[in-house]
Amino acid sequence: MRVIDHLNNAKQTLISFEILPPLKGKGIQSLYNHLDVLAEFKPAFINVTYHRSEHVFKKRADGIFEKVVVRKRPGTESICAAIMNKYNVDTVPHLICGGFNINETEDALINLHYLGIDNVLVLRGDAAKNEANFEPEPGGHKYAIDLLKQVTDLNSGIYLEEDLKDSSKTKFCIGVAGYPEKHFEAPNMETDLKNLKAKVDAGADYIVTQMFFDNAKYFSFVNACREVGINVPIIPGLKPIYTKKQLTILPKTFHIDLPTPLSEAIAACKNDLDVEKIGQEWLLEQSKELKKAGVPVLHYYTLGRPQLVANVVRELV
Ligand code: FAD
Repeated sequence: MRVIDHLNNAKQTLISFEILPPLKGKGIQSLYNHLDVLAEFKPAFINVTYHRSEHVFKKRADGIFEKVVVRKRPGTESICAAIMNKYNVDTVPHLICGGFNINETEDALINLHYLGIDNVLVLRGDAAKNEANFEPEPGGHKYAIDLLKQVTDLNSGIYLEEDLKDSSKTKFCIGVAGYPEKHFEAPNMETDLKNLKAKVDAGADYIVTQMFFDNAKYFSFVNACREVGINVPIIPGLKPIYTKKQLTILPKTFHIDLPTPLSEAIAACKNDLDVEKIGQEWLLEQSKELKKAGVPVLHYYTLGRPQLVANVVRELV
């Protein structure tokens, strides 16, 4: 079922989860162990992130360093199909511009269509590990909106080969990313909202936000979106904090702020076990307030801490 149909049919706030493919070599059972903890909450859908290839330097036997391409977390599309099969839940593969040319993107979309997956979260992706700025693949898309248009084309039966006859239409429901604290490359919030509105006007069905730890930022983002005419559902993305290191890693990586009461409480913790307790309480309070405000879905980035997220969701239902 398409995410937008879940949202339209919902009588109350839904639950969804986001997971990473396992590191290469770990096997899919590690993922199932993670999801077994969360399955009891009957999520409306599960997102699976996409991780592009990286260039790394490996030392050869003769001592010379060689540049090689590695993909640490492959398998997004097949993991989606495996999860659908095992847990009977809808899945949302993330699809990025980075590392793909448009022909490869079309093939990926056709594979998803054949697998019965009718959802995609369309993203640009970040810069490659050792590059300062995002560079599109030769013959690839520069912005998420360009990738989105390729998906809507396919939904209209328009493939890259123009002379295809009676081509079948896909029916992808399309999600896009939004940033309550602004995307870090955007010169200001107004411009970022204009670019977000362009994605919605081009056919995005809903928005999922970057994580935030201050609900006021989400509420004012939703208001700002409505003011500029963005009327699709805006799903809040929520992440648990469980280590002291995240105090600096999260702002640095995701360009978000931690509210002072949260950062001070974490800074005062003796160890990560204490941080986990604070993180769980904070996530629960955030979730309760958002649910009370009637958000369409509570979308949890479960990354490595399914039990913590399960403890929170159990308190909500
Ligand atoms: P875009 O919408 O293309 O925007 C990128 C920047 O360009 C913004 O500053 C925007 O304002 C600007 N912009 C947009 N259109 C134009 C235009 N026409 N002209 C000029 N400027 C423009 N990354 C991954 O690699 N894999 C994942 O699985 C993944 N999952 C994510 C899930 C969520 C919910 C979120 C919020 C992010 C995720 N990301 C993921 C990270 C994401 O790829 C990065 O944040 C990336 O830097 C931007 O992606 P985007 O789709 O928002 O890009």
